[in-house]
Amino acid sequence: MDLKDLYRDVILDHNKRPRNFGTLPPPAHEARGHNPLCGDQLTVYVELDGDVIRDLRFEGKGCAISVASASLMSEAVKGRSRADANALYEQVHDLLTRQDAPSPPSLGKLAALQGVREFPARVKCASLCWHTLNAALEGGVAPVSTE
Ligand code: ZN
Repeated sequence: MDLKDLYRDVILDHNKRPRNFGTLPPPAHEARGHNPLCGDQLTVYVELDGDVIRDLRFEGKGCAISVASASLMSEAVKGRSRADANALYEQVHDLLTRQDAPSPPSLGKLAALQGVREFPARVKCASLCWHTLNAALEGGVAPVSTE
């Protein structure tokens, strides 16, 4: 099995069995995100403990990449500070948009999203959950759109 197969398996697995799928009651922050290009819709719920993301859930529907990306993100940012989550997003964004981007070990399973950069139209599918997380952390009420 080469790396590409492995990455594809991670995406398929997280799409089929999304981790942290569900909702959190208030006072958890929540934000909705929409990617009109593909039709992906997500709601992200975040429970903060001071500056730390104590818990995170998401629900919604969308393509395999948007769901798998949200699932991978939920595992990756739980227990991290907001600053760490932001730093991780910067790395993911590079991975998605730069052909020569490195895949640092700190990315963990998020490295599986690397294949998305071969398909520029799908980058918004993969980044939607991160934009939505940001909006939830900022306490935004207006739905975010990738457009
Ligand atoms: Zn999509």
